[in-house]
Amino acid sequence: MALAQNDRDAIAAAVDRAFDDQVEATRRLVEIPSTRGAEWPAQDFMAGQLRSRGYVMDDWSIVMEDLQGLPDVGVITHDFSRARTVVGTLQPAQEEGRSLILQGHCDVVPTGPLRMWTTPPFQPEIKDGWLHGRGAADMKSGTMAALYAVDAIRNAGYRLKGRLHFQSVIEEESTGVGALSALQRGYRADCALLPEPSGQTFSDVCLGVIWFRIKVSGEPTHVARAGEGFNAIKAAAEMIRAPEGLEREWNRRAADHPIYGAVTHPLNFNPGIIHGGDWASSVPAWCDLDCRIGLLPEWRVEDCQREIVDCINKAAAEIPFLANNPPEVEWSGYLSHGYVMRDRPEVRATMEDAHKAVTGQPMGRRLATALNDARFYDRYFDIPAFCYGPVGERIHGFNERVNLASLRETTKAIAFFVAQWCGIEPDSAKA
Ligand SMILES: [Zn+2]
Repeated sequence: MALAQNDRDAIAAAVDRAFDDQVEATRRLVEIPSTRGAEWPAQDFMAGQLRSRGYVMDDWSIVMEDLQGLPDVGVITHDFSRARTVVGTLQPAQEEGRSLILQGHCDVVPTGPLRMWTTPPFQPEIKDGWLHGRGAADMKSGTMAALYAVDAIRNAGYRLKGRLHFQSVIEEESTGVGALSALQRGYRADCALLPEPSGQTFSDVCLGVIWFRIKVSGEPTHVARAGEGFNAIKAAAEMIRAPEGLEREWNRRAADHPIYGAVTHPLNFNPGIIHGGDWASSVPAWCDLDCRIGLLPEWRVEDCQREIVDCINKAAAEIPFLANNPPEVEWSGYLSHGYVMRDRPEVRATMEDAHKAVTGQPMGRRLATALNDARFYDRYFDIPAFCYGPVGERIHGFNERVNLASLRETTKAIAFFVAQWCGIEPDSAKA
């Protein structure tokens, strides 16, 4: 049964009443520079938010050994000793409604050169109806929207009839092991909503992604006798060309895909980091290229890994020094399949109702050309999972920002979804 109009009105009014507070809390979360390996203060913040609202808390360190054997575990090579997952649960006395996972990630990508930002990335500012800052869109505003959406239901005098897990995870931007750790811990529900910045569209598919590092070696000499050496940095520049060929070939194959055939160039290769050499007057003996490439949801990661290695080897074979000293390919993060949401029309219908009730518009669909954590829930754990979140801009770029009008609408839409999905009843304790 759909939500009654007076229930919706009461919940929407509760969102409006708390919205200034929500924006301020979002601003404080964006202030925390929770880049990879430094997420723990943001996790402290989220744990505090959940605890103060009376959620039953679970807050644990992620131990990589515990995750081995789970699907698509990525590769972690940095200090992981402070890695945590934070989950708050609202458990009804009698579970009569459907259960739900709301999940946000608090890790953010690096800022790049600070001089390119108009406002410093971790000093969030509101200008012209947008909140600016690294992570403002991806995805701290969405996480807080989900938190305040549940608040609005409770502040309007209702309680949920289904169990709700609110999960704050890390590593969404590099391996996905934060989401996996929650699954390994045993968290399950009838549906999972991830408020990533989908532009108020329903995002129910994503690509797979592989991170790999091409390690090119050279022959060091004094640059005065450069002809006797072999320059690993120049060779690395050649090696970038090889995956570009693979990218072209993979996009040719993607043209016939029933979903991604509609997207121009869905599979992107990116050489993202380059490190190499030791001295300006020495011919460099080494160069490492950190790369990312996308794959269609149905492609097997193992097959794609083989194609990547083959393409590097083939290119190296044409350069005599590299033919004898072939570059190594290391896996350096994501090793992940994509997903297409399993057919659960009631999930989409419930989100569409909620979206329409707020915006008066039909809900669009986003075909993500990156990946997100929804894949684990849906693909491997039989939990239909999707993203729905606010309008963001310049995600992973300079002057990232989220639109506050869309954030307010998104908060209402998520609140309506949660209320409809889990079911609500008057909270007699608050009456
Ligand atoms: Zn994100």
